[in-house]
Amino acid sequence: MKRKISLIALTSCSGCISTLISLDFFPQYIERTMLSYSTFLSDFNNIDECDIAFIEGCVSEDVQIDLLKNIRKHSKKVYALGSCAAFGGVLSLSKTHEAKPISNFIEIDGYIPGCPPPSKLLGNCIIRLIENKDLELPIRNSCDTCPLRGNFELNSHISISRILPEPDEIIPLKERSECFLKDGILCLGPITRDGCEHTCIKHGIPCEGCMGPVSKDFTSNAVNFLSVITLSNKLQKYKGIFYRFSKPLLRW
Ligand code: SF4
Ligand code: SF4
Repeated sequence: MKRKISLIALTSCSGCISTLISLDFFPQYIERTMLSYSTFLSDFNNIDECDIAFIEGCVSEDVQIDLLKNIRKHSKKVYALGSCAAFGGVLSLSKTHEAKPISNFIEIDGYIPGCPPPSKLLGNCIIRLIENKDLELPIRNSCDTCPLRGNFELNSHISISRILPEPDEIIPLKERSECFLKDGILCLGPITRDGCEHTCIKHGIPCEGCMGPVSKDFTSNAVNFLSVITLSNKLQKYKGIFYRFSKPLLRW
């Protein structure tokens, strides 16, 4: 029997659902499922019973809490799709809006991280869920499979004097051969979950942490990382960069 799917967007840029819709196998995915509710792809306005609900975006308005509870009530499984839904995401850095992960309001069955989730990881996750299997996410940090790692180990003190791209700088698309941290450039690979296939790193941009923390213990991972690096005075004002995608998790 076809599994019934709902796709819901809260406060978001639509990047996660757009990535899902753009997957090569999305047409086959649609054939193997039945759409129950999606403001993007259908005219169904009622939240109906479904097997799997994917929710994109963070919670930034009270009205979304009722919607979430309604979805939870009607869905056998609920998954956060992307880092906004899973961790609060980039909007949580806003000084004027509050942004919270959906798990602050309802129980979820798992999350697919990334901003947006990398296509390969997303595709594999979706197939597993359609086949009624559990999600499988990488359990190591991004350094584990990084092509720049070489013999680099984060076990001695490192001075960080640069971030890339520098504020107001055009993103430099150039390949590197050595670990960013080794050159004193901030890279969040050590505290970020693996699975993105290092697209940014391959284009000369250090990891910004969009895959979120490896474990729920984000605060202690971040503190451990901060204990082995020193930020130059010039960079002190950019501390928000450490939790760009995961600020609400600091309060877990
Ligand atoms: S996780 Fe990223 S891509 Fe997805 S909705 Fe949030 S900002 Fe957009
Ligand atoms: S710190 Fe960054 S560049 Fe270095 S190995 Fe880890 S992910 Fe790769």
